[in-house]
Amino acid sequence: LIAEAGLYTASDQIIILSPENVDSVLFNSSAALLVEFYATWCGHCVAFSPTWKNLARDIKEWKPAVDLAAIDCADESNRKVCTNFGITGYPALKFFPAYSSSESRGQEFRGFSRDVRGLRHYMINKLEMHNETWPPACPPLETASEAEIDNFFQTNNVKLLALVFESKDSYVGREVTLDLLQYENIVVRRVLDTETSLVSRFGVTDFPSCYLYNSSGHISRLKVLNEARTFYSYALQRLPGVVRTGKPQIPITDLIKNSTLQEWRPFNKTRVYMSDLESALHYSLRVELSGHISISGDDLIALKKYINVLAKYFPGRPSVKSALNTVDSWLQQQKGLEIKYSDFRDVLDNTVQTSDAVLPEGVQWVGCQGSQAHFRGYPCTVWTLFHVLTVQAKEMSSPDPQEVLQAMRSYVSSFFGCRPCATHFESMAQESMDHVTSLSTAVLWLWSRHNRVNNRLAGELSEDPHFPKIQWPSPELCPSCHGLKKTGEHSWNQEEVLTFLRNYFSSAHILTDYLQ
Ligand code: FAD
Repeated sequence: LIAEAGLYTASDQIIILSPENVDSVLFNSSAALLVEFYATWCGHCVAFSPTWKNLARDIKEWKPAVDLAAIDCADESNRKVCTNFGITGYPALKFFPAYSSSESRGQEFRGFSRDVRGLRHYMINKLEMHNETWPPACPPLETASEAEIDNFFQTNNVKLLALVFESKDSYVGREVTLDLLQYENIVVRRVLDTETSLVSRFGVTDFPSCYLYNSSGHISRLKVLNEARTFYSYALQRLPGVVRTGKPQIPITDLIKNSTLQEWRPFNKTRVYMSDLESALHYSLRVELSGHISISGDDLIALKKYINVLAKYFPGRPSVKSALNTVDSWLQQQKGLEIKYSDFRDVLDNTVQTSDAVLPEGVQWVGCQGSQAHFRGYPCTVWTLFHVLTVQAKEMSSPDPQEVLQAMRSYVSSFFGCRPCATHFESMAQESMDHVTSLSTAVLWLWSRHNRVNNRLAGELSEDPHFPKIQWPSPELCPSCHGLKKTGEHSWNQEEVLTFLRNYFSSAHILTDYLQ
């Protein structure tokens, strides 16, 4: 269960302040901090908390330059901290520039906007006010002049310069610059539409628009679905040669040669493979569950629900479906308070494998192969499996909209070997799974929560550099899923996403290559 009592948990990517860490986080930090002082009982704070969480997700890439923190002033142990900072009303925001001294009480932000975009712009304004204490990780945000661009490759050791042409009051260029700050081999600068000589040299007609300029003098316009921040950042982060700091991309063929990995199975990155789904079944039923010698209470309920949704919705080969049905019937007949894993295993290995019902043994990752043994594999197939099941439940008109999600929730909570993953998933489930009232929203719920996890894990050690965590599906994979609000903010076209998911995870679309 969730350890923190306040409005935020560790999975929100917000630093949770306490008397123990407050000094080290706020003072003499190389990053600037924007801090929310709140009280759990204050309705405005509760109403503001989704915005604060969305902001944290939105500016995740900016963290080395500017980060978010929060402190619950309703918690008695935090009272003294809040009093010292002169907090009397909630929510209150205070900005702490990089390298703030321990005497600093922060700069109060009065009448702040309650939307992510306004808060983001405020943070940029504040970042720009640093002078000699400029946060070292923060790239220059000022506009670039023609002279600077002409001398750029003489004075900078990078191959690629991305120029965002825009009007003076636009924040896009600065936002993209910050979105790219954790990436190497590229520099982003903004150029104003009033730099007429550069504008005509580059042949710029639209503002904003983004151009690439390389060290051999070649100029090209960045192709994007929409001329907006999210689309520029996504496209620039994926340009050949641009890599996340500390995550060089070694070609897969070299990795295979240099390691003991099995043969690489070429696959289509935009498809689901039955071999992954069957491998997920094998691993969860024969490996993950085997750690539980006897299964009782909530765990037994979880197992029954899991096997039941598999029996109903797993879109497998007839022999696999038949196997799942056999296991399901056996489990439903177990009326005791407890079962032994060895009895369950006996059904899997003996009852099932004798007839035309088969649960293939062993794992053979295909679409979920990682470039190294410790990447991807099982967790990738768990997500894929449950996306497939939510879509199948929709196609088969399950009477219970939450059936598959609740089965996933309890399976993850009782058995998923990655315990921090289980805690994070449970906190998302507690927050909003109850709001799922239709089979379509169940499909979308899992998609959007998976994207939250992707956002949180992007750039982490566990991320395979060959399969970076993105907000999925990408604009290339599903152009119609992506839209733009009037303000220039990215938006998901949920109806299109639903259509896309229903096709992507449909049984007819699953590839059967490499099946044993
Ligand atoms: P995955 O994220 O595993 O995705 C698999 C495939 O699904 C992708 O290749 C893509 O084709 C597709 N996909 C991607 N995004 C979406 C989406 N939004 N909707 C539909 N399909 C999508 N790891 C941690 O380090 N910390 C955690 O807290 C954590 N929590 C987890 C919780 C759960 C319930 C699960 C199943 C896994 C969790 N993991 C966690 C593991 C992590 O999410 C990844 O599964 C793992 O790092 C492997 O990543 P991957 O690149 O194979 O892609």
